Amino acid sequence: MTVVTRFAPSPTGTLHVGNIRTALHNWLWAKRHGGRFLLRIDDTDQARSEERFVEAIRADLAWLGLRPDAEVRQSARFERYEAVFADLVARGTLYPAYETPEELDLRRKVLLGRGLPPVYERTALALSDADRAALEADGRRPHWRFRLEHASIVWDDLIRGPQRFDAATMSDPVVRRADGSWLYLLPSVIDDVDLRITHVVRGEDHVSNTAVQLQMFESMGATPPAFAHGALLTGSEGKLSKRLGSMGVAHFREAGIEPEALRALLARIGTSQPVEPIVDADALTGTFDFAQFGRAPARFDETELAGVNARIVHQLPFDHVAQRLPAGMDAAAWEAIRPNLERVAEAADWWAVIAGEIAPAITDDDRAFLVQAAERAAAIDWSADPWHALTDALKQASGRKGRALFLPLRLALTGRDHGPDMAVLLPLIGRARAIERLSAAAN
Ligand code: GLU
Repeated sequence: MTVVTRFAPSPTGTLHVGNIRTALHNWLWAKRHGGRFLLRIDDTDQARSEERFVEAIRADLAWLGLRPDAEVRQSARFERYEAVFADLVARGTLYPAYETPEELDLRRKVLLGRGLPPVYERTALALSDADRAALEADGRRPHWRFRLEHASIVWDDLIRGPQRFDAATMSDPVVRRADGSWLYLLPSVIDDVDLRITHVVRGEDHVSNTAVQLQMFESMGATPPAFAHGALLTGSEGKLSKRLGSMGVAHFREAGIEPEALRALLARIGTSQPVEPIVDADALTGTFDFAQFGRAPARFDETELAGVNARIVHQLPFDHVAQRLPAGMDAAAWEAIRPNLERVAEAADWWAVIAGEIAPAITDDDRAFLVQAAERAAAIDWSADPWHALTDALKQASGRKGRALFLPLRLALTGRDHGPDMAVLLPLIGRARAIERLSAAAN
């Protein structure tokens, strides 16, 4: 059996970090099992779905490196939904109901007032053909409900373990509105059947949907997929955070976060495994397992993400980042600078130190020393380790040591009082430029 998962966003907005995590988990599970990962665009709500969001979702997945093996759109499948609908209506599994939202609301309040669960009482099932004809003649159009079989519904959730619902305590779900438009529940099941989805991986806000959807699979004579409902994300404060809802790929890109960092973090938070700066997708895939997930909410902490990001940046090969580096910066420079970066964009800053114009603030006390430095720089062997050669020679010549020795050199050579290891920087600055900078600073 080939594992097939699907990520099923509604294109009514851009993806936020919670959606990204769901997409990643679907992708990881499919890849782990050599299976297929599908993108399903849930655009049955044509008033709220927008093409620009479909494009944004595709672009975000591409940036994250989560390439779908295929894409399906619900809006292209209305005919199929119609056919299943007709069949389920003919079998009495779907039935028309005529209550207005106001009537339903009132009934709910009455039940709650009596201390009863606000479950739909199936009033519509009691209507005769004549009642229905009268309502229709009155201009009422029905919405459609799925008739639950009053039994217990059980499944073994890959994350939550054994689940049990009593269908008798649940309202028959509305699957289609009076205007003919679809609610999410039934089309999703039809797609999952047709696309042979083996694992439905989504957030725990869908757990009660799963209960009714299991009966829908049954009504279609299909074997339901396995389910994995992930605990929700919370912010670093441990509370459900509104901010997470607005944090998407655009936000992370702007913050200099690499897709690998986001993947490494989101694959592991909420699990018993440590968050590790794993660049290699296969390494991440190989260790991914729903059995490792707990039921407690997963804490998403941007500071932790920044930390993982830095450790990822330190590993990125030149080829991977070359297009984002300033012109002229080569592999040697990238490797030298990389350990000092938290974000790839900072490389430009360091490249400016190496190859650009600098304006060091030199104090007069250091000028004579820098004259000496310029002379020594011309005399040392540059082929091996010029920084140690230069500082050893200057220690001898000037009697300076420690900060008094190193700081004026760093300032004169880079224009800054801190930064990457000078032993790494100096060969990149090179002999000619170093002598020029030391001489300029000495004057
Ligand atoms: N469009 C649904 C959502 O975004 C899909 C849920 C599912 O994965 O079945 O919540």
